[in-house]
Amino acid sequence: MVGGSAAGFYTAWLLSRSGRRVRVYEQADRLEPSSRSLIVTCRMREMLGSLGEPSVVNEIRRFEVWSDGRSAQFSLDRPDLIIERAKLIQSLADRALANGAELSLGRRFLSLSSGPGGLELGFERREDGARETVLASTIVGADGALSEVARSAGWPRPETVPLLQALVRLPADYPRDTVRVWFVPDDTPYFYWLIPERGDRGALGLIGEDGARTRRSLEAFLEKHGFDPLEYQGARIPLYRGWVPVHRRFGEADVYLVGDAACQVKVTTVGGIVTGLRGAHAVAQAILHADGAGELRSLRRELNLHLLVRRSLHQFRQSDYSRLLDLLNPGARQSLERFHRDEAARMLWRLCQTQPRLLWLGLRGLLTRDIFSSGSEE
Ligand SMILES: Cc1cc2nc3c(=O)[nH]c(=O)nc-3n(C[C@H](O)[C@H](O)[C@H](O)COP(=O)(O)OP(=O)(O)OC[C@H]3O[C@@H](n4cnc5c(N)ncnc54)[C@H](O)[C@@H]3O)c2cc1C
Repeated sequence: MVGGSAAGFYTAWLLSRSGRRVRVYEQADRLEPSSRSLIVTCRMREMLGSLGEPSVVNEIRRFEVWSDGRSAQFSLDRPDLIIERAKLIQSLADRALANGAELSLGRRFLSLSSGPGGLELGFERREDGARETVLASTIVGADGALSEVARSAGWPRPETVPLLQALVRLPADYPRDTVRVWFVPDDTPYFYWLIPERGDRGALGLIGEDGARTRRSLEAFLEKHGFDPLEYQGARIPLYRGWVPVHRRFGEADVYLVGDAACQVKVTTVGGIVTGLRGAHAVAQAILHADGAGELRSLRRELNLHLLVRRSLHQFRQSDYSRLLDLLNPGARQSLERFHRDEAARMLWRLCQTQPRLLWLGLRGLLTRDIFSSGSEE
């Protein structure tokens, strides 16, 4: 396993508890992942059970969505979870190591080559810069958006987009169970969010298309809404533009990708935790039982639906978002309350049934020039 983070340790846990010998190679010298609050649907709780609980710091029961001074609210039947990424990774790592997985820290993966005894993995030892070679029959690349495993095994480089958020102090009257979302297509084809974390802290951020412009937009937005940034957090997120096959033969060995390395990110919201865990689960099934194809098909359908919605939203102007909010009748709101982002098919189906005009709005987006597919903006 290359990469000791959420997708990597989850795969390592699933494999090690079934008796497989697993070693995780992580480039960092210590297992101290950077702390970051993330929002996930309750699907994470269903998948991880007690394993994910130590990371949960808050629950979200309400969304408030804004466009050009208008707003719409809806409550969630099942709360979203705010999780502390560092705690999630630690919890998954503890469980994997308790099941016998081994961990080599300070090992940066450099190369793959096919040798007589199997696959040869080249690492750089961080402590002294020396090279180390390791033999393996199966390798899983869980090394994130800029995966070197993927590159070495011949997968094409995915496109990435910048995600930037600022930690801010929440106003005293800000409801701690509510996420606020703003659509401002002049700044970003995605959206701004304000997510309450613990206590009086929240994360206000956006996904952009260009790093410098994203930073300027966030600074202007913070100033406009009277927030002082306490700290910035950011990274590049892989952009899902179509299914990435998770398996390749490399010489006599098998190479798999999981998580961000396989672009398993919902491109509507750029959330990758739940989908990355689903990808990890499917790959573990493939390794253990030559199974997992059904699970991968279902993940692929989910990611492709998000791609379809993103293609439409990417064409939206401010007036389209305002129209979208106006169309949220009680039935449509109920659909948003009942279904979450990790069950897109059911949510979209119910939305179209309860408010068919949303379908027309979405189709209009799809039928105008597809700037998302061409990757450039007007
Ligand atoms: C600021 C921010 C906010 C986010 N918010 C959300 C959110 O609210 N909800 C959500 O679902 N998702 C969110 N995401 C996305 C989510 O964090 C990622 O999709 C997810 O963490 C990816 O996990 P991963 O295990 O696949 O990869 P990563 O967490 O990127 O881990 C990759 C690991 O591989 C290691 N590595 C990399 N290269 C090498 C190498 N050559 N050799 C050895 N090790 C290597 C790295 O050190 C790292 O430990 C956010 C991302 C960011 C940056």
